[in-house]
Amino acid sequence: MRRKIVGSSWKTHIYSIYEGKKLAKEISESVKDVDDVDMFLLPTFPMIPLISTTLANTNVSWGAQNISFAEKGAYTGEVPPQVLRELGCKYIEIGHAERRTYFNETNMTINKKVKLALNHGMIPIVCTGETAEDKEQNIGKIRLTTELMWMLDGLDEEDMRKVIIAYEPIWAIGQTEAADENYVEDIHVFLRNRVEKEYGKEIAENITIIYGGSVDPENAVKLMSKDNIDGLFVGRFGLKAENFRKIVDAARGKVE
Ligand code: PEP
Repeated sequence: MRRKIVGSSWKTHIYSIYEGKKLAKEISESVKDVDDVDMFLLPTFPMIPLISTTLANTNVSWGAQNISFAEKGAYTGEVPPQVLRELGCKYIEIGHAERRTYFNETNMTINKKVKLALNHGMIPIVCTGETAEDKEQNIGKIRLTTELMWMLDGLDEEDMRKVIIAYEPIWAIGQTEAADENYVEDIHVFLRNRVEKEYGKEIAENITIIYGGSVDPENAVKLMSKDNIDGLFVGRFGLKAENFRKIVDAARGKVE
């Protein structure tokens, strides 16, 4: 039985450390009674030390939105994996579409990051998603397969037990509506089958596959009604504690 998970990347929507601290406190307060869903927040790097003190001893974990592709060395501006581990990061988001678009991240770089996160005992949340053009031309699944195979190249079964796959169709990010839940379910089944082909049934049945892209409290209920959607990765609509709580309740199947 896969445990449900809800997390939120703050991107740079939250751009003050003090705002971040306040929001982390409000969110953790709002979900303090929840024990049947894993939860996490991903603030920007410099906020992590302060947020980690706010979230310590709560049921909400924290992590980072990116990680260096190299362990250490002359890589100006990068944040090494060991620093993130020392800051208590549990999850590392890797390969978000915005990183690929604005920072030229490639599948090869992403693969290095995934391995480094795992080597340092952190859980990589590996993002993949097709563009609107891929979808129109009916080649979305080819893109997803290529990305997945590259990003997970060289990982063994033990590694695969820790990885989370985040399906984030690029055309659904930052929109007014999420992708349709039946469409997402079909893609999640496809991704699970791909994992099964490479790593076998047991790993595939246990791997967590979450959806991200314009998730809000309403569509969360529909998305979480599907068997293969194991959780939600929330952007803009997770920036209010009240919304975050509602999305968590959707993941728990507890909605009035
Ligand atoms: C995202 O880009 O991962 C995301 C979930 O953003 P939004 O919900 O704002 O579309």
